[in-house]
Amino acid sequence: MRDIWEQTLNWQPSIQEQNQFQHLYELIIEANRQLNLTRITNPEDFWEKHLWDSLRGIKFLISASKINGQVEEKKQRQDKEKIKIIDLGTGAGFPGIPVAIAVGNCTLNLVDSTKKKINFIDSVLPKLNLDNVKATTCRVEEIGRDSQHREAYDIALIRAVASASTCAEYTLPLLKQGGLAVVYRGGWTEKENVGMINAVEKLGGKIESIEQFNTPLSNGDRHCLYLRKVASTPEKFPRNVGVPARNPL
Ligand code: SAH
Repeated sequence: MRDIWEQTLNWQPSIQEQNQFQHLYELIIEANRQLNLTRITNPEDFWEKHLWDSLRGIKFLISASKINGQVEEKKQRQDKEKIKIIDLGTGAGFPGIPVAIAVGNCTLNLVDSTKKKINFIDSVLPKLNLDNVKATTCRVEEIGRDSQHREAYDIALIRAVASASTCAEYTLPLLKQGGLAVVYRGGWTEKENVGMINAVEKLGGKIESIEQFNTPLSNGDRHCLYLRKVASTPEKFPRNVGVPARNPL
C-alpha cells in the first residue's frame, strides 16, 4: 500500500511502523475470537477502514511530524513539549493507536467506558512498544469535568461514537484554547451542518473546516469536521452522563 499512502497522505510508513501495523492487526484478530472488538477483519478492510481512515483525519500532523522528524531526534523533546492528544470512545484503539504509531512527537490518552476494550489496549501497548500512550476506562462526560483533563489537550479525536453535536460536547471541554477537535464522519448533510454550527458555538468552538474525501479502496464517502476551540467552554458542559447522547445540543 506504499503508493496509496504516498498519493493520499504524502507519507509512507517506515519498516518499523509497517511492522507495528501488522502486529496490531494480528493482535486484534487473535483477541477478536473472544472479545468481539471489531467487525472489520479482512486485511484490506482493516487497512482501509482502521489504519488509513484513522490517519487520514490527522493528515496535517503526519506531514508536520515528517518535517520535524530529523530535528526532533537531536533535540530529544521533553514530554511536556509533546502534542497532547485524547481519543474519545476509542473502542479497540481507533483512531488512537495508528496515530500513536505514525506521529512521533505526541502523547495519547485513549478513553473508553468499556473495561474489556481498555484491558485489551493495555495488553497491546507494550507489545507494540508504544510508551507514549495510556488507556483509561471512563465515561467521556466524567473525564470532561475532571480538572486534570479539562482544557488540557491540544487535539481530541472522536470516531463513530455519537451524533456530531454530541461529539462536539464530548471533545471541546477537554481542549486547551486554540486546540482542535477532529470529528470523523461518514456522510454529512447541510441539515446536520446547521445544527452543528449552533452546538459548537455554545461550547466555545467554531467549525474551522470540513473535509470531504473518499476511501482509496472501496471509495466510501467520508467527512472530517475540524473544530477549533476559540473560547473557554461554559462550566455546565459536558452535561451529566447520558444527557449529551439522549438530548444533543
Ligand atoms: N472509535 C472506535 C470505536 C467506535 S465504537 C472506532 O472508530 O473503531 C464506540 C465506542 O465508544 C464504544 O467502544 C463505546 O464503549 C464508546 N463510548 C460510547 N459512548 C461513550 C461515552 N459516553 N464515554 C466513553 N466511551 C463511550
